[in-house]
Amino acid sequence: MNLMNLTKLENICQAYHMQLAKNISLAQHTTFRIGGNAAFWIEICSAKGLGEILKFCHESQTDYFVIGRGSNILASDQGYPGLILHLGNEFSGIQQQDNSLICESGAMLTNIAKFAMQHALTGMEALSGIPGTIGGALFMNAGAYGSEMKDIVTQCRYLDKSGMEHTLDAQDLDLAYRHSFFTEHDHTIITSVTIRLTPGNPEEIAAQTADYAQRRKTKQPLNYPSAGSTFKRPQGSYASKLIDDCGLKGYSVGGAQISEKHAGFVINTGNASCRNVLALCRHVQQIVSEKTGYFLELEPVFLGIRELDGEIACS
Ligand SMILES: Cc1cc2nc3c(=O)[nH]c(=O)nc-3n(C[C@H](O)[C@H](O)[C@H](O)COP(=O)(O)OP(=O)(O)OC[C@H]3O[C@@H](n4cnc5c(N)ncnc54)[C@H](O)[C@@H]3O)c2cc1C
Repeated sequence: MNLMNLTKLENICQAYHMQLAKNISLAQHTTFRIGGNAAFWIEICSAKGLGEILKFCHESQTDYFVIGRGSNILASDQGYPGLILHLGNEFSGIQQQDNSLICESGAMLTNIAKFAMQHALTGMEALSGIPGTIGGALFMNAGAYGSEMKDIVTQCRYLDKSGMEHTLDAQDLDLAYRHSFFTEHDHTIITSVTIRLTPGNPEEIAAQTADYAQRRKTKQPLNYPSAGSTFKRPQGSYASKLIDDCGLKGYSVGGAQISEKHAGFVINTGNASCRNVLALCRHVQQIVSEKTGYFLELEPVFLGIRELDGEIACS
């Protein structure tokens, strides 16, 4: 970014009480604990300020990427040369309106579930253990244990890449397995999500939530950094079953390993690089495809990784 643009961006941040930081470690902001530095980083605290930043990015052709909790991201070892817009704690308000909750997009699903329980509202229990923000969850139509965002969302607000605000109702969100309007519209940013829940009994909600948490603890390698399920569920089977059937449990490249506990998770055993993860995933894809005929698509979103002649490379 040239000096003139940097000054402009600093002025916008100052006007909206946001900090512009430089050289921020992506490893520290992704649950995989992988990735080099992002050149610029802004902690977003208002939709208005975000709109101004997007207008600036549009006019100055500055590259940007939005991060929530970073729990579904694989970041390049070389980092990201653009601007990261982080929608986290500073943008995480939750408001109740009858049986609906209007959530700023940086609110964590866990906190929304807690809020719902405190207000005797049921419907968030199965999603409560997904370690991401509601913005990231809507982006991918996150789901667990037979529930998905699609079941509860009624409306959302978002900003397009020129900073204009729009509202979308659920039926226009195009929600399907790990797919939404937003996966098809690059650079749009969800600012708030409205979900509709049902009145319930707080004790039953608490018991159900604890049961789902226990199931995760038993089945998933939660003591290692990861991005959750690394491969999408192929139609007609399960990624973890196919990988297990191919004898790939425990297979590793550098510090990246197919979890012994859950074959659908690639874990970082300590010093995995992005290159390690990609090499491991390519091997798994090849073996599974040769032995079973299924192609396993990757679920995490790539940040700072580019494709060269059909080959994925960390740039
Ligand atoms: C241990 C573990 C368990 C998991 N279990 C599940 C599970 O059961 N089910 C499931 O579906 N997922 C699961 N995940 C994956 C992940 O938690 C979800 O996909 C989550 O919804 C991602 O939210 P996030 O805030 O971390 O998004 P990020 O990882 O920060 O971002 C993911 C994508 O969403 C985009 N994005 C984020 N916020 C916004 C926004 N406000 N507007 C527009 N785009 C946005 C980003 O640009 C990026 O493309 C798991 C992950 C881990 C580490």
